[in-house]
Amino acid sequence: MSLIVNNLVSGYGRLRVLQEVSMEIAPGTVASVVGANGAGKSTLALTLSGLLRATSGTIELDGTPIQRMAPEKRAGLGLIHVPEGRRLFGGLTVAENIAMGRHAVGRRKGDDVVESLLDSFPVLRERWGQRAGLLSGGEQQMVALTRAAASQPRYLLLDEPSLGLSPRLSFEVFRLISMITEQTGAGVLLIEQRVDAALELATEAHVLEHGAVVASGPSHEIRSSDAVRKAYLGA
Ligand code: ATP
Repeated sequence: MSLIVNNLVSGYGRLRVLQEVSMEIAPGTVASVVGANGAGKSTLALTLSGLLRATSGTIELDGTPIQRMAPEKRAGLGLIHVPEGRRLFGGLTVAENIAMGRHAVGRRKGDDVVESLLDSFPVLRERWGQRAGLLSGGEQQMVALTRAAASQPRYLLLDEPSLGLSPRLSFEVFRLISMITEQTGAGVLLIEQRVDAALELATEAHVLEHGAVVASGPSHEIRSSDAVRKAYLGA
């Protein structure tokens, strides 16, 4: 049981971005994908969620090949994409936004997960009846993540959840991701530009350069490799 990506190729029209990318994400763990701007990280998330069609290669979700499925069908199997920029319904309240996630599955378990997240992140409870569009960037990101957690995900694709946030709010967002992973048992693909924090949270890490995976392994090993320290950690 895992999300297995094998020799995935995709791009935009004639532009080939992903060059035979392979990786595996196990349930209940965080795998982080790091790389420079333009390396193809968002393209990978889009191809996994089906918003972009793979040119070739396979994607297997707990044994089911999904590379030809429509995005909503993949979501129905529990593959949930939280894109860059959060995409909340700004005119709806926090409660209504999170209810959208629950509607997607209509089961009880999502409620329990949300309850325990609200206990650990009281700011969400404080904002419960407010319009999402009026929240700070960090709070909106937390709502987007809680909505995803409420939909009983099997795998979560998180595209730069800390983008534009202060270090303090990023820390809260990472704490929330860690708790969601624990509470839902979902496997998380975490795309991040805060490389150090992402590698700390992750079990496995993959370095993407020009659309290809150039290094993969336990994140503590990737973190201590000279090439990664030089390129991404300013060492
Ligand atoms: P960033 O951190 O800047 O978001 P990234 O690693 O997520 O970078 P992608 O957004 O996946 O990189 O972009 C990979 C390549 O695909 C880049 O060369 C980019 O210019 C190109 N690209 C991205 N989106 C499109 C698009 N809609 N049409 C054409 N080319 C695109």
